[in-house]
This record gives sequence, structure tokens and C-alpha cells, in this order.
Amino acid sequence: MNVDWLIVGAGFTGSILAERIANICDEKVLLVEKRNHIAGNAYDFYDEHGILVHKYGPHIFHTNSKKVWDYLSEFTTWRHYFHQVLASIDGKQVPIPFNYNSIYSVFPLSFAQNLEKTLTERFGYGKKVSILKLLEEESEDLKFLADYVYKNVFLGYTLKQWGVKPEEIDKSVTSRVPIYLSRDNRYFQDTYQAIPEFGYTKMFQNIINHPNIKLLLNTNYKEIEDQITFKKIIYTGPLDFYFDYEFGHLPYRSLDFSFKNLKQDRYQDVAQVNYPNEFNFTRITEFKHLSGQKAESTSFVYEFPQEYEIGKNTPYYPIPNEENKILADKYKQKTKQLDNVIFAGRLADYQYYNMDQAAARALSIFEKQILSSK
Ligand code: FAD
Ligand code: UDP
Repeated sequence: MNVDWLIVGAGFTGSILAERIANICDEKVLLVEKRNHIAGNAYDFYDEHGILVHKYGPHIFHTNSKKVWDYLSEFTTWRHYFHQVLASIDGKQVPIPFNYNSIYSVFPLSFAQNLEKTLTERFGYGKKVSILKLLEEESEDLKFLADYVYKNVFLGYTLKQWGVKPEEIDKSVTSRVPIYLSRDNRYFQDTYQAIPEFGYTKMFQNIINHPNIKLLLNTNYKEIEDQITFKKIIYTGPLDFYFDYEFGHLPYRSLDFSFKNLKQDRYQDVAQVNYPNEFNFTRITEFKHLSGQKAESTSFVYEFPQEYEIGKNTPYYPIPNEENKILADKYKQKTKQLDNVIFAGRLADYQYYNMDQAAARALSIFEKQILSSK
């Protein structure tokens, strides 16, 4: 087979680049995916009960980028949706990010009022403060609050999710979920928040539906690379795998998903309930909250974090810390010697990207590295 581009991986990064190249440059693309489906980790499907579930855990689209929103809106209509998360703490379910409503639900009224006043005076209403920053506070009340939130929200969850304490992983990880000095119970505050109306997989079908794109599923690109002629590769798989682990293995965290269905309308009050302090799963997500479906039963998923082992499970999360950055940089140095390969995506960049960041990176690569050289 003779194509212009070989693209490895049919997730956000690979599919968007395939579409741009096929559509704008009118060049031929072979999109190779080792799984038996498109859409990468955003893949969703109707389970045996007719509920639209996310095979690789809950995927909630949120972005401040109008460019990304407008681009994806060419391929899907949206169900506007604000994600809400509760965490099980001291026998109650309280809003996460931990906010003023959470403070009032776990502390006596007068102490909660004091905390609200102190926090607003110190940081300002509406501000977001990371747990590691709050732990540095000197006032006795804020120290107490910081210790409480650290112990009840972050410590157990982070130990389960990452196998280390919050201070042992890059600050950017826990600051994704700050303490939010507000009464806003939404998980995200981005301008655009939604779920593709007919699901992510349908949106991906539309993205790659182009006569210049050929899709090959169930195929590891290394098995067919020699049988194809192409000018360039875009690689979105694990960075270390591309180089046959030459400098050693980059660590990832993995998950085991356990799906359940019950013959009842709803299982929990909001889409996601976190369990920082109990059990060995981190969270339960109930899908009908995301899809807005009406059905007699309800499907939900438990996430059990685990170590990643090659050949045994899937590398879901790059682990951001100093040591891993050094190893990833060593591989990235090597990528610079390869003129005809573009590395991009959560695994190939070894970066903890959200969907919109993966999409933004793909659009930017297309404009700056592909279109500009035409
Ligand atoms: P991927 O989606 O991982 O796609 C890479 C593809 O390459 C995969 O399909 C893989 O099978 C394929 N591949 C790898 N190696 C090979 C090979 N050798 N040959 C052929 N194919 C190969 N983001 C959000 O914005 N909101 C969320 O709520 C959210 N929730 C998430 C929950 C979980 C549990 C996880 C793991 C991620 C979540 N994300 C979320 C992040 C989101 O999944 C990623 O940002 C996005 O999928 C990245 O797209 P990608 O194309 O870079 O990578
Ligand atoms: N986190 C936590 N407790 C929570 C929610 C999040 O400790 O109740 C920490 C944990 O370290 C987690 C990180 O914040 O891995 C980022 O959370 P996020 O919900 O963004 O994780 P993702 O959806 O990407 O798995």
C-alpha cells in the first residue's frame, strides 16, 4: 500500500490529524489502531442494557478553547452538561472540589463561618487554592482546614491512584482539583462543558469519515510498517515503545474497570462519587447522568487503580515527577533526530493531557508543522 502518511493511534490526536491532512491537504492517510475500535480512551458504546457507557472511564469534555470547541462542533452536536462530583467523607457525601458548601456540610456552623471569612480575606472569593499551597498557611484555622482536606480528600485517593502521597507527585496533579473558595459545585469552570450528543465514538466516526483516510483496526503498526510505503509518520502511542524501550521503561499508572447494572432508575445523586477514604476503588461513575438517557436500569463503573505492567494492562496515566521527566526528555531528545516522524498525544508526549489539550496540540501541529511546510 502506498500512502502519504502513516498515523498510529485513532484517539483524539491521531484522528484529528488524519482529518486535517485528508481534508485540507488532500493527502492519503493510513490510520492504524491496535485496538478493535476508534476513539482511543474516549471510546463509548451502548452496553447490553442500552446505556451509553465509557469503556475507559468517565470522559467529560471541557475547554476554554473556542478553537477546539468550534472544530469538534463540526463533527458533533452537544448535550450541555456540568459535571458534579461528591466525595464520601465522614459518612457524608460532600462537593468536590472542596468548596464553601463542603465546609458548611462537614464543620459546625460557627467554625464554618469563621473559615469562610478567613479564606475570603486571605485569598479572595472565587479563588482556587491547591492543597499543597494551603498546607503552607500559618493561621491556626487554615492549618486545621488544610490538614482536614489533605487527610480526607487527597491522601487516600492519591495513594490509591498513584501509589504515592500527594507531595510525592508533581504539584500539577493535585492542583487539578483545588480547594475552591466559592459556592459553585461544578467540577470544572470552563466556558464550554458538554458531552457529544450521540457519544464520542459517533463523533470520531464523523471525524475520520473521509475518502482519503483508510482505517486499519486490530493492528500494531510495527507489524505492518514494512509493508507500506509512506512519506511521514505521526505516532501517538507510548514514547518508550517506539524506541523499543532503549533507555528503559517509562512508568504509567493503569486502571481496572468493573461495570455494574442495577434494575433501578438511579444509583447515586450525581455522575461521580469519589471514595478517598474507603474501599480500594477511587470512584464510581453512573453513566445516565452523562448521557441524559431515560431507562429502566442504570449502569455504572468502579475504577481500581493499579501499577502498569507491559503486556498485562493498559498505560492510562503518565506519572508526572522529576525522575520520569528526565527519562522522557531523553527519549524526546531522540525524537528530534527523526525528520519524518511527528510524536504527539498523551502517551507520545508523556503528558497528562485532557481531551481538549490533545485536540489543541493536534490542531497546532497541523498548522505549524504540516500546513506551513506545504
Ligand atoms: P489515546 O486516546 O490514548 O489514543 C492513542 C491510541 O493509540 C490508542 O487508541 C492506542 O490503542 C493506540 N496505539 C498505541 N500504541 C499503538 C500501536 N503500537 N499501534 C497502533 N495503535 C496504537 N480527558 C478529559 O478531557 N476529560 C475527562 O473526563 C477525562 N477522563 C479520563 C478518564 C480516564 C480514566 C483516562 C485514562 C483519561 C481521561 N481523559 C479525560 C484523558 C483523555 O482520555 C485523553 O486526553 C485523550 O484520550 C488523549 O488522546 P490521545 O489521542 O493522545 O491518546
Ligand atoms: N484527587 C484526590 N481526591 C479527589 C479527587 C482528586 O486526591 O477526590 C487528586 C488525585 O491525586 C487525582 C488528582 O487529584 O489523581 C486529579 O484528579 P482528577 O479528577 O483530575 O483525575 P482524572 O479524572 O484525570 O483521573
